[in-house]
Amino acid sequence: MIGLGRFGTSVARTLTEQGWEVLAVDQSGELVQKWSDVLTHVVQADSTDVDALRQIGAGDFERAVVAIGSHLEASILTTANLADLEVPSVWAKAMTKQHARILERIGAHHVVLPERDMGARIGRLLVGSLTDYYELESGFGIGRMGAPDRLCGKTLAELSLRGRYGVTVVAVKHQGGGTFEDARPETRIERGDQLVISGSTERLQQFSGRA
Ligand code: ADP
Repeated sequence: MIGLGRFGTSVARTLTEQGWEVLAVDQSGELVQKWSDVLTHVVQADSTDVDALRQIGAGDFERAVVAIGSHLEASILTTANLADLEVPSVWAKAMTKQHARILERIGAHHVVLPERDMGARIGRLLVGSLTDYYELESGFGIGRMGAPDRLCGKTLAELSLRGRYGVTVVAVKHQGGGTFEDARPETRIERGDQLVISGSTERLQQFSGRA
């Protein structure tokens, strides 16, 4: 994990909590000090220097994340260095579409635009009654919503939502029932249920907007 800003520390923390071994790198001694209690391995290095990266063994890692957003030059040089070190999977955060294009060109395997994506997600959530939404790729996503009254008391087979609205109920959690269960034709929707639904963004929006 290169760059211990808000994004980098959040990803590194989540990986550490899941039991992955993470080497975190930042040029700031202050940040290295701050995060060394929370993350297992934290080192101070300038990732624009390929020799510094080589020295800390960056080339031996299966995956690397370039979590430098606002320093364009450092983001580009770091990504190029990791590609030169032949790290098999390089993820990089970009601030703009143009930045993303450059990172892809110089060898990043996955480029994420967290601010743009989160903005789009919030935009989707603000309009219908979805309480969670992930766009898996442009125009198709998966969302979560409370069961609308008009569906209650009927089974999924009776409702035939795919045919009528173009959306698929993937999982259902009954009120007080604990966990989500795979949706089956005989699953009956009840008041207070939570639904996970997939479909085209447009269909999901229309369907949730009618709730
Ligand atoms: P965020 O928006 O997620 O907070 P920033 O882009 O502001 O991310 O932070 C990026 C981090 O990357 C900063 O902590 C900065 O010290 C670090 N960083 C920037 N350039 C380099 C570099 N050349 N080598 C190592 N770390 C760097």
